[in-house]
Amino acid sequence: MKILKAGCACRPPSLERLERSPWMRLLPGLRAYHCPSCGQSFLASKREVTDIMVSHRQRLFTRSHEAADAARAA
Ligand SMILES: [Zn+2]
Repeated sequence: MKILKAGCACRPPSLERLERSPWMRLLPGLRAYHCPSCGQSFLASKREVTDIMVSHRQRLFTRSHEAADAARAA
């Protein structure tokens, strides 16, 4: 199990949470995740992973707004 502080390099829109083993509880702030995109399991800080999720959601939100604006202009 690797420790990837900023999450997986492929930055998937969602990560699966894994049950932590007892030794992982000794690492405060880190949570176990599984990336459905590359199949890698890793430890990452909850804050970093949340930031990735939020930026994904913001991008989707912006894109749907742009589409709505384009529809209105047509
Ligand atoms: Zn990945």
